[in-house]
Amino acid sequence: MSRFFSEKYAELEAYVPGEQPKDQQYIKLNTNENAFPPHPAVAQAAEKAARELHLYPDPECMQIRKALAEKTGLSVDELIMVNGSDDILNFAFMAFCDRHIPAVFPDITYGFYSVFARLNQVEYREIPLQEDLTIRVDDYLQAAGTIFIANPNAPTGIALSREQIEKILQANPYNVVVVDEAYVDFGAESCIPLIAEYDNLLVTQTFSKSRSMAGARLGFGAASPEIIRDLETIRYSTNPYNIDRMTMAAGTACLEHDEYNRTNCRKIMRTREKTRKALEKLGFEVTESKANFLFARHPEISGEELYRQLKERGILIRHFGAERIRDYNRISVGTDEQMDALIRETEQVLRG
Ligand code: PMP
Repeated sequence: MSRFFSEKYAELEAYVPGEQPKDQQYIKLNTNENAFPPHPAVAQAAEKAARELHLYPDPECMQIRKALAEKTGLSVDELIMVNGSDDILNFAFMAFCDRHIPAVFPDITYGFYSVFARLNQVEYREIPLQEDLTIRVDDYLQAAGTIFIANPNAPTGIALSREQIEKILQANPYNVVVVDEAYVDFGAESCIPLIAEYDNLLVTQTFSKSRSMAGARLGFGAASPEIIRDLETIRYSTNPYNIDRMTMAAGTACLEHDEYNRTNCRKIMRTREKTRKALEKLGFEVTESKANFLFARHPEISGEELYRQLKERGILIRHFGAERIRDYNRISVGTDEQMDALIRETEQVLRG
């Protein structure tokens, strides 16, 4: 830390993204990227847009908002475009939390929520997941703060139904409920259809997972026009050009080929279920994941040890140090070949 760093950030511990070691080629199953590259039209659109990089992008992101409006059945004033969904999660902490309004989220969830809370100097309350790592809906009915729920949750992959989230929305008319749907397209139910009815709902989604565009940094928020206007105030007060020309063109092309994305999601879901069965056969306990990753523990090997030994064998998975989940590992679902290699090497590790 330099002697100039503001004391307001002295205690801030930054978010730690999944490692990207360069020492060798790994089978990378640690950051929940899509197993498949984007549709070829996506790269073509980005290349074409690159020819106009001397010009600022459209700050209103109108072209892609129109395309998304068509896909979701929302109007453009119910949509905001962001630089990866991390961008809008931070905006939500800025816009809807303060000295009087804490953030409320599960004790085991996306690690960035507590970082954003500290960055924005707001209090947060963590509600413990149940013993089986599920969210107890009744714990969120008197939240007294802005609620953040990843659905499916991370890193468990376990999803709430739309009906369960609706119960939380109904019980919290004075609180904003942020539903982070980064992984929703791998088998969970989106809450976007509830936006018309609930003015306290903000849904966030990303192009990083189901749309194979993690490298481009594109996400969006969907909510009532009033909530979107608040978020636009934050966006225009930080970086109105947060979506660059190439990403905007790539994202629009990506939506034009959504059937390709959906086919890949179905493939990943099939591979997920196949891998789950194979892991269970090896003695793992695996959560009921509706995401593009699995969360698993084995009675005979610690999470950290399995992570370490697989890394030595060229396979990266994600281990978290938090007390409650340190026996587990999160394993992104890759291609069938990658998952066959994972199972093969894991079997070897278990044999010792
Ligand atoms: N929410 C959750 C639950 C995530 O796991 C991630 C990915 N790390 C994000 C949001 C943010 O993803 P992105 O910024 O790539 O859209």
